Amino acid sequence: MAYDNPRFWDSGHLDSEVHRVFEICNGCRLCFNLCPSFDVLFKRIDALDPHRAEAEGKHLEGGMVEEHEAKKLLEQVEVHTESPVSLLEAGDKERVVELCYECKLCFPKCPYVPPHEFAVDFPRLMLRAKMARAKEDGIAFRERFLGATDAVGMVMTKIAPLANGAAHNRFNRMLMEHAVGIHRDRQLPAYADESFLTWWSRRAPVESPAQPNARVAVFATCYGNYNDPEIPKAAVEVLEHAGCAVNCPEQVCCGMPKLDGGDLEGARGLARKNVEMLLPAVREGRKIVSPGPSCTLVLRTEYPELVGTSEAREVSEAVMDLSDFLLQQARHKKLPKGFKTPIGKVAYHVACHNRVQNLGYRGRDLLKWAGADVQLVDRCCGMDGTWGMKTEFFQESLKVADAAASRVESAEADVVSSDCPLAGLQLKQKTGRPVYHPVRILRAAYLGEPLRSPRGGGGVDLPPAADG
Ligand code: SF4
Ligand code: SF4
Repeated sequence: MAYDNPRFWDSGHLDSEVHRVFEICNGCRLCFNLCPSFDVLFKRIDALDPHRAEAEGKHLEGGMVEEHEAKKLLEQVEVHTESPVSLLEAGDKERVVELCYECKLCFPKCPYVPPHEFAVDFPRLMLRAKMARAKEDGIAFRERFLGATDAVGMVMTKIAPLANGAAHNRFNRMLMEHAVGIHRDRQLPAYADESFLTWWSRRAPVESPAQPNARVAVFATCYGNYNDPEIPKAAVEVLEHAGCAVNCPEQVCCGMPKLDGGDLEGARGLARKNVEMLLPAVREGRKIVSPGPSCTLVLRTEYPELVGTSEAREVSEAVMDLSDFLLQQARHKKLPKGFKTPIGKVAYHVACHNRVQNLGYRGRDLLKWAGADVQLVDRCCGMDGTWGMKTEFFQESLKVADAAASRVESAEADVVSSDCPLAGLQLKQKTGRPVYHPVRILRAAYLGEPLRSPRGGGGVDLPPAADG
């Protein structure tokens, strides 16, 4: 349902919509193994079904039934038409809502999404329920904190050594868990001591080619801006190497963390600002390229509705995932091949938010184009924005990541890669291996340099070139 629909905040309508969709899902069950949300929903429905034993034939477990007994048994059979979905309590529904981490994998899988008359959009319905709760109870301090990525990032980059030290101090982490609700054992991303946009503003201007292969503006993402500026810096350098005219307009958080926290008006405010700041670049004929799958998803699919103007549509239509853009350039022979170092074997994790945009394998194909031997890791990492950081979901999040982590480990790759930096954080926590965006791997191969983790230290040397 559209955010501006007058019934969006109508709690009676929301309840009946949740009931309707749960009924359809109960009949369908295609998503039974997708995530904890569906797992809890179906297990609870089964547990509440008073006729479950009959449905499973348990009343006939006594063995072979004689013909005369069968007649008697058939006479006793009662036909019930009420659905166990009606027996779900408010707490059951609440649990299903909070366990949805908005990976959105159920949407492309579902045969009943609009324009089907059933119009099932499970992730949107879960988001609507979260927003309704936030409106009723107010937005919790943790959600405000996690949603204030720019304010927090600006402060933390100014005190990066202190902030990074505190993130490793056990006592601080216990305090943080109690005060903010971020699990003490969650490995947090380090802060850079200079943001990407500051680096860009003091960088000596690079003359654009007279006939650029493409005109682009980089949307760095909050993670790229404050935590790992090496990602957008590599993007700038690789795009320039590909003969593109590159620009980085002023920008703010895409709004995804605020949406996750149910803060619709906060997300709308950020969306309006970004539309205003990115529109001039779009009107200069630039593509907006971003190395963050969740951010491109929000910019491309949510902005037209969050802002509701033709300008917002103009911006959203110009947004492209960075790996997708680079692969296009490569396929049009505009991305040079001359690598100084071979990339070797890569375990590439595909981000859920790229899969739902039908961009699933662009990062893998880009690395393959660059000569890498790529092993695909096609499982959800269970991090999903800030969900996996929260105290009550931390263990569940690690459990979801088991399959992805064991595939990374069994790949025995030289380098681990994902387009999503938060998936990278989760995989690093699970496997101990640093994870790199494909553009960083490309840059390192062009320059023949080792890959370094954001915090310095550690890192990965790409395999030596065959000739030495
Ligand atoms: S969006 Fe992801 S977490 Fe939410 S219900 Fe769908 S599959 Fe589960
Ligand atoms: S979301 Fe769609 S595909 Fe998944 S269980 Fe519900 S109806 Fe079936």
